[in-house]
Amino acid sequence: MRRVLVVVLSLTSLLLLALVTVAGTPGSTDANTPREASATHNEPDPTTSAPRGTQRPAEQAVAQTVPPLPECLVADEPAWGGTYDEWRYTLLDTRFTLRPDYEPPDLVPVAGAFPAGTGEAAGGRLRSILIDDLRALVADAAAAGRHLAVQSAYRDYAYQAQTFQYWVDAHGYDRALTTSARAGHSEHQLGTALDLRSLDGPAAWDLDDWATTPEGAWVAANAWRYGFVMSYPLGSQPLSCYSYEPWHYRYFGRELAAVIHASGLTAREVLWTLAHGGAP
Ligand SMILES: [Zn+2]
Repeated sequence: MRRVLVVVLSLTSLLLLALVTVAGTPGSTDANTPREASATHNEPDPTTSAPRGTQRPAEQAVAQTVPPLPECLVADEPAWGGTYDEWRYTLLDTRFTLRPDYEPPDLVPVAGAFPAGTGEAAGGRLRSILIDDLRALVADAAAAGRHLAVQSAYRDYAYQAQTFQYWVDAHGYDRALTTSARAGHSEHQLGTALDLRSLDGPAAWDLDDWATTPEGAWVAANAWRYGFVMSYPLGSQPLSCYSYEPWHYRYFGRELAAVIHASGLTAREVLWTLAHGGAP
């Protein structure tokens, strides 16, 4: 399966064409999809220069291999791409899960991405592979007058179980399913997902919409440039399985993040596409 991914990713433009084609198919858009939200970005949209309608047969074939996105079932099936090396492609939702003992071997203090002396802005640990890009994001945000902090980073299986139970106790099981991940299903267990907040602000989930604050808006517009993507955009619940979380970002690396951003699709849709790209 990884060989397929290598092929697909080595043909980024081809994938982009496939994703653009998917985004344009009937039934894949509605008034509340993140595609609408993506229109708020002011930077040039690479998809506008894609040669729509000029795909060669091979490109059309890739697009046609993309299966419909599955429903957000509540189950415990092993995640596709569930090894530490496949962190970019690991598909987690209410159905697909990591092993309880999944703990990346390269977790390092998040504080390493922040200037010395500002350790209070960043507790917890994340995978070392993203620290350089997180440092660049934090520094460029600060240069623009947007000062960020990390609210939550890696969570192990047991901690995630406590977190989910907290929300069950607070709001009941059914609502907790849409606002929190069951243990094993959280992107936080990957060590590549983090919850951001404004340095001088409360936890972002205590605000109506962190993405409307100067910091949240800056991150929403620019995170992809550093390899980070908002996992659960506004109005994406039927696609992403979770309600809007403007503070929750997952690292995909700059190349894949740019593809996801340009596609206008949710990360889950792109990962599902990659998981089945070229599959028989
Ligand atoms: Zn989160």
